[in-house]
Amino acid sequence: MGKLNVTILRYLTRDDFRVLTAIEMGMKNHELVPASLAAQIANLRYGGVHKLMKELCKHRLLSYERGKHYDGYRLTNSGYDYLALKVLAQRGIIASFGNQIGVGKESNIYIVADEEGNPVCLKLHRLGRTCFRNIKDKRDYHQHRKSASWLYLSRISATREFAYMKALFDRGFPVPKPIDINRHCVVMELVEGGPLCGVYEVDDVESLYDELMNLIVKLGNHGVIHGDFNEFNIMITNSGKPILIDFPQMVSTEHANSKLYFERDVNCIRDFFKRRFAYESELYPTFQDISREDCIDVEIKASGLTKQMEKDLLREIGMIEVDEKEEIEEEHEEENIDEAKTIMDKDEINDLQLRVENSVMNEFVCRAKECSSVDEKV
Ligand code: ADP
Ligand code: MG
Repeated sequence: MGKLNVTILRYLTRDDFRVLTAIEMGMKNHELVPASLAAQIANLRYGGVHKLMKELCKHRLLSYERGKHYDGYRLTNSGYDYLALKVLAQRGIIASFGNQIGVGKESNIYIVADEEGNPVCLKLHRLGRTCFRNIKDKRDYHQHRKSASWLYLSRISATREFAYMKALFDRGFPVPKPIDINRHCVVMELVEGGPLCGVYEVDDVESLYDELMNLIVKLGNHGVIHGDFNEFNIMITNSGKPILIDFPQMVSTEHANSKLYFERDVNCIRDFFKRRFAYESELYPTFQDISREDCIDVEIKASGLTKQMEKDLLREIGMIEVDEKEEIEEEHEEENIDEAKTIMDKDEINDLQLRVENSVMNEFVCRAKECSSVDEKV
């Protein structure tokens, strides 16, 4: 903790990257990725892959574990971080790394610098390590997808955050400027200041209160509710201006519980101002005060940006039935391949893609066999 270990970024080779990407892809349908599958996806000699993976384990980017049915590799947090940071570094978005400045409930926040040396903020989303352990076991089929859920959840969370931040920033809301995203990593403008929870003195308490309440209503008028609008997610700049952060949980004003979420956001601010500044006002907004003028909620939904991921997740935890044909058409594959393009050449990519398709197809055939042999027994 503290500093990101990024010297590794410089020393790892293209083949290392290739192996990590292969494990990431393998984890879509394997709790642990067997060495042979990793070698097949990465299209490297088995012996060569074996050695690379041993090294990657030593650096704790992979871990080797014994499963119930077979042994294999999985990506560690650091391994997943590495994949995303490598891509962001390759794009020139981040060039050097600084200190950790925050630990949220579900994230780690770092100061990093772009190529010109300007400080920017890097948020690594970390979700779901244990979230779905207790969800009712459906078919064994879904069982091995759960272990990959932290990967999906973190990625969904980052994607949602970036999408909302961009929509809000484009409309002039006081939020950090979104810069880039890859996997579970969001890069955004660094706010010079600190969270409201650390502020004990304000020039004009009443006007800050009004500004925050107006912000809640304005969000509502644009069709959204922040959902976690509190002193930890409002930054106060050095010049005293509030900047809203932390958006993965935002919901539409059409959400079934939207009134509740709206009132909770309002009450968080009322309670905080009472506690911290002994300030109470008769005036506070209600859900009825919203008058819609824009549809950020609809825009985010329609962009399809998170739809596929959410579908994957629901499928993964057994909430929706799997259409086997659809299963093969994994959209993430394309995304990953796009990213990999910046690091590998075109032939290598085509080759990799073919291999992934083959391995997904193999999986499909194996599962179909499993199912039919179960049917026979019954
Ligand atoms: P979480 O979702 O884990 O709560 P947040 O987005 O709320 O994460 O960030 C956690 C902390 O990191 C914040 O309270 C704040 O101190 C710091 N932080 C987050 N984003 C920025 C930013 N853009 N600039 C400066 N500090 C930030
Ligand atoms: Mg927060």
